[in-house]
Amino acid sequence: MEYDLIIIGGGPGGYLAAERSGHAGLKVLLIEKRKIGGVCLNEGCIPSKTFLNSAKIYEYATHGEKYGVTSTEVNFDHKKVVTRKNKVVRTLTAGIKANLKAANVTIIEEVAIIEGKDGVNYIVNVNGEKFTAPRLIIASGSTAIIPSIKGMIEGIESGFVLTNREIFDLQEIPKQLVIVGGGVIGLEMAAYFNTVGSQVTVIEMLDHIAGENDRDVSTILKNVLEKKGVTFRLLAKVTETKSTSVMFESDGKVEEIECTKVLLSIGRKPATEALGLETICVELDRASIKTDSRCRTNIPNVYAVGDVNGVFMLAHVAYREAEVAVNNILGKKDIMRYGAIPSIIYTNPEVGAVGETEATAKLKGIDYKLVNIPMMYSGRYVAENEGGTDICKVLVDTKYNKIIGCHMIGSYSSEIIFSVAMMIEQELRIDDIKEFVFPHPTVGEVIREAIFKF
Ligand code: FAD
Repeated sequence: MEYDLIIIGGGPGGYLAAERSGHAGLKVLLIEKRKIGGVCLNEGCIPSKTFLNSAKIYEYATHGEKYGVTSTEVNFDHKKVVTRKNKVVRTLTAGIKANLKAANVTIIEEVAIIEGKDGVNYIVNVNGEKFTAPRLIIASGSTAIIPSIKGMIEGIESGFVLTNREIFDLQEIPKQLVIVGGGVIGLEMAAYFNTVGSQVTVIEMLDHIAGENDRDVSTILKNVLEKKGVTFRLLAKVTETKSTSVMFESDGKVEEIECTKVLLSIGRKPATEALGLETICVELDRASIKTDSRCRTNIPNVYAVGDVNGVFMLAHVAYREAEVAVNNILGKKDIMRYGAIPSIIYTNPEVGAVGETEATAKLKGIDYKLVNIPMMYSGRYVAENEGGTDICKVLVDTKYNKIIGCHMIGSYSSEIIFSVAMMIEQELRIDDIKEFVFPHPTVGEVIREAIFKF
């Protein structure tokens, strides 16, 4: 029952920390209360991308006329999409479990509760059994925020209101779907369900969609989705859910919208409740566990990685934080840098973003130059996107001529943005980047085109 390291939570943060530390020779216990793979694998990143891939194939099959492709009968089988999603999840979970086995990690699939400290060892209770280790990594992730409005709990209990936990197992396409929240998750789901036949309305409290993303980019995305049939109600606040409708306030008036299902996607909160954090006095910053750049909490040898520290709720951030925590445990100094974290919206068209936006650069008083060019600068984009209106914006620090941000919407943005993240991370100057050879014809050449405009 004694380990070198106990990790609570088997999502991307937890399982990667377990794999890395196990391979480094530590005796590791990983405790997961639901499913190995966490939210990302079971009810987040992977299910949503599997869904969106099917929607994209359907969209190409049904809207190919402008490319000379027409088809007389195209069917969409949502049940088959769900079955395939389950297969994809099973394949990836099996891979993770095999990696953990190869790293000699012990896995327990139960709830873990921290109980305090005995000498240098932390005590973790699992179903009445006590496990101890001198080091802990907390990787308990996050859960969907449920607003305390009238009818919400009843709606969830009856299956009328869904979160990311239920939406990927829905067997039927809802005729009318109301999505509460126009952030990344809400938009990806709006794109899927709209493409495959739902009448989708997105209700968003702000005056724009896509949260902190560049405003020009989010406006283009909104226009494209609207053209495809999604209805957006901005500056609108949901006040009540009834058994077959949603009430919301907009412009001082109360409105009601009938629907088959409601998807709640107003944000996520770190999962810090019922973990026993108070027994070892772990400091919180509102709901998140407070960490430093080495992912250390205020308590010696207790680390927190992934969504639970609330810095960036993204799987790839959880991965890197896991490595930082493990390296520090192993005595190798390693720190997190958050300046070049790419983020994506996997709609069609895709959005890729990294670094400063105009708004954040202004807020920080950074003197910057901007190039904003149409994606049509790329030959491949023109060949593949009839009537495309997408853009690529690059921000450069005036003082040092270094690239500090990039915000793009259009095909392959999700794959291209990483190259810009590397340029930012490596603090490359415009003149360095001008010497790079980009493959032709690729949509990524748009970055080269933008750089030569500075
Ligand atoms: P989680 O994946 O939340 O895992 C934490 C685990 O801890 C859970 O499995 C939980 O059961 C377990 N746990 C909690 N408490 C205990 C306890 N007391 N005992 C034992 N186990 C416990 N991110 C991206 O980067 N790209 C995307 O495309 C993307 N798409 C998303 C789509 C959706 C619909 C959602 C909801 C999220 C998406 N995310 C995406 C976010 C991503 O899923 C999270 O950032 C990521 O899962 C965080 O990893 P984590 O390890 O911190 O936590």
